[in-house]
Amino acid sequence: METLESALKLILSHVSPLRDTETLPLSPALLGRIAAKNILCPMPVPPFDRSPLDGYALHAEDIQSASRETPAMLRVIGEACAGCTTHFSVAPGEALRIMTGAPVPQSCDCVIRQEDTDEGEETVQIYAPVPSGGNICLAGEDIQKDALIVPRGARLNSGYLGLLSSCGITEVCVARRPRIALLCTGDELKQPGETIEYGQIYDSNQLVLSCRLMELGCELMLLKATSDEPDETARALEGALPKADLVITTGGVSVGKRDVMHRALPLLSATRLFWRLAMKPGSPMIASEVSGRLILSLSGNPFAALVNFELLCVPAIRKLMGDTSPLPQRFTAPLAGSFPKKSGQRRFCRAFFDGQQVHLPSANHSNGSLSGVETSNCLIDLPAGTPPIQAGEMVEVVML
Ligand code: AMP
Ligand code: MG
Repeated sequence: METLESALKLILSHVSPLRDTETLPLSPALLGRIAAKNILCPMPVPPFDRSPLDGYALHAEDIQSASRETPAMLRVIGEACAGCTTHFSVAPGEALRIMTGAPVPQSCDCVIRQEDTDEGEETVQIYAPVPSGGNICLAGEDIQKDALIVPRGARLNSGYLGLLSSCGITEVCVARRPRIALLCTGDELKQPGETIEYGQIYDSNQLVLSCRLMELGCELMLLKATSDEPDETARALEGALPKADLVITTGGVSVGKRDVMHRALPLLSATRLFWRLAMKPGSPMIASEVSGRLILSLSGNPFAALVNFELLCVPAIRKLMGDTSPLPQRFTAPLAGSFPKKSGQRRFCRAFFDGQQVHLPSANHSNGSLSGVETSNCLIDLPAGTPPIQAGEMVEVVML
């Protein structure tokens, strides 16, 4: 019997980050991918000194003592809007009408906002001074040339992709997506669209875990659900193993007569890393290895499978992807309501963290029930021996 932490350590010690990389064009398809190299900014952003407002570019000296009562009068030599590619030369006594985003000519040292002028077209009256350097966004003010914009191992999000786009990068080298095989087992399983007879159920693990694998950015190898016959399950695994980086199964890991994984895994000469975790739900999980590949066999109970997946499979997948901090975020927060059950064993419950408090769904908390998962965003981790919890008591939150 392993603790969650010792099991995780064992699993992670059998996972190495994938070395293969691929170079993909800059596009939303990169979301969630892991950068395989440091990326430096090839140019200053913004690339030129630009105006952050609509007004006039001019010489600060010319308007030093300007006021409403004694305006400065300047000759307007032209107009620069965003996208303007003309190099203007503005002499003392002159001004350039300028719009937000347009380049500020080298010859000007400030921009005055149009609200402090008469907005003149030929000549302009200026009603206030601006210090030298005022209202100019300098080239490179956002990102300097050669600054590190994406560190190797970073998970690309919209912010990173925005930075890459703003400096004109067209392609990114990322770690290959891990190929994860998913096999749900159970004589009772049918897929939606099939008719179920008395005693049969619709499979939910396949879709829930497929969705999570897609969200994580994996390449999904979805295997057709198999029965509790060890030969059939072993054959399916044998077919998937050479192509998959990691195999996940659900069902048949407990102590029942037909719990198939205990009989299917030996047919593959799998080495067992552990069986059973000191926690609820998901205690009967098995981890094994076949020729350097992990098979993580989760409980079939839908909530138990999800807890096993989030706490033990996700970190392994993140490590495969080259993520240098693969564990979920943890912190403590007060429980909004009470939780009346004692937790003899360490227990994980579905919950929703609203930024301040943790709410438990009113739905039942059984291992076999998915209800409440749809509105959850975290688990709470209750240590063995936790008595019933009163509202306001602090609990440990594991963000998903
Ligand atoms: P097992 O882990 O095979 O003992 O299954 C535990 C419970 O989970 C049983 O009630 C199964 O019918 C149910 N179960 C197993 N696999 C699935 C699945 N893929 N989707 C939904 N429920 C399942
Ligand atoms: Mg079963």
